[in-house]
Amino acid sequence: MKTLTILGSTGSIGTQTLEVAASLGYKVIAMTAHSNLELFEQQKNKFKPETAILSSEPGGEDKLIDIAKNSGADIIVTAISGMAGLAPTLAACETGKRIALANKEPLVCAGEQVMQTARRYGTEIIPVDSEHSAIFQCIENKTKNMSRSSDEGKCLNEGHQISKLILTASGGPFRGKTRKELENITPKEALRHPNWNMGEKISIDSATMMNKGLELIEAMHLFSMPPDKIEVIIHPESIIHSMVEYTDGSVIAQLSTPDMRLPIQYALTYPERKTSLTKPINFAKLGKLTFEKPDPDTFPCLELAYRAAKQGPKTCRILNEANEEAVELFLNGKIGFLEIPQYIEDRTNKCLL
Ligand code: NAD
Ligand code: MG
Repeated sequence: MKTLTILGSTGSIGTQTLEVAASLGYKVIAMTAHSNLELFEQQKNKFKPETAILSSEPGGEDKLIDIAKNSGADIIVTAISGMAGLAPTLAACETGKRIALANKEPLVCAGEQVMQTARRYGTEIIPVDSEHSAIFQCIENKTKNMSRSSDEGKCLNEGHQISKLILTASGGPFRGKTRKELENITPKEALRHPNWNMGEKISIDSATMMNKGLELIEAMHLFSMPPDKIEVIIHPESIIHSMVEYTDGSVIAQLSTPDMRLPIQYALTYPERKTSLTKPINFAKLGKLTFEKPDPDTFPCLELAYRAAKQGPKTCRILNEANEEAVELFLNGKIGFLEIPQYIEDRTNKCLL
């Protein structure tokens, strides 16, 4: 029986991971949470982990890192939100086990360090983010595992006949809107995503499209691809989770009904596939799949992320930091929705001076 450690068990990814673990019969031996004590208590009673810690308590941060590094689980699921997950992710990279990586911000702010540490310790990183899981599935026969890849530093497009990665984006709750229409958006409106039910931070990132910007940088590190070989296309149905274009023009895509429990499960069972909780696609009912170009006027965050990705790790770190601050300010009613990209642009511009 496989054993799991879940960092951030009370969140959207954390709770869905527990569902998947129960369905697969995997044993959860350790879990951590930062808030929502009531849910955490319920989870402890149901899953009876050997270790469970609340990272917001005094000394909690050290305990969180200790669990990430020393729980002994076969798989560590990183489901903390934001940069707060960096130290525990790096600790998990030192285990030589498998990381099922959902927490994307550590890759955005310190991608090279994360990937290098994983390589040094022989730790596998399997993506949970649906787009990256899709790409991982589309290239599976090409590179068994990027974090363990022997061609360190080599780009995926070198020698693997891959010409580009195509990340799909739903477009979020404000797809098709003009800047003017978004002037007075409230946090409540921005938190309402059409296809996914997620934590607050990633929901706002999806509304500004910074989520796709962060995913661009995440993909660069996971798959060693330069930013100009990663394209973003809006696909409102969220059925194609991403695609890989090969040098001969062939495109391989991964499709499924939008349900995070599938990429979570795949990161746990890889290289095997098991029956899952996800409903199969009903193509006839679906009728059609559509695509459109991202709108750079309404959603400048995506361009800001491309710019940071091209500039290098320092700008990426500042982009991520500024975004976390801006999202927090917006959620607390301190800045408007359209000020989020402005805030990030000002901060990353300073980085250029
Ligand atoms: P969430 O806010 O729902 O849950 C976050 C979890 O981390 C909770 O258990 C919380 O208690 C814990 N946490 C919060 N702050 C912490 C801190 N400072 N220290 C330690 N623990 C802390 O978030 P989520 O939506 O589950 O997202 C988790 C990560 O997965 C994010 O990086 C997100 O971008 C990524 N992700 C989420 C989804 C999704 O569908 N929710 C999809 C793809 C990727
Ligand atoms: Mg995603």
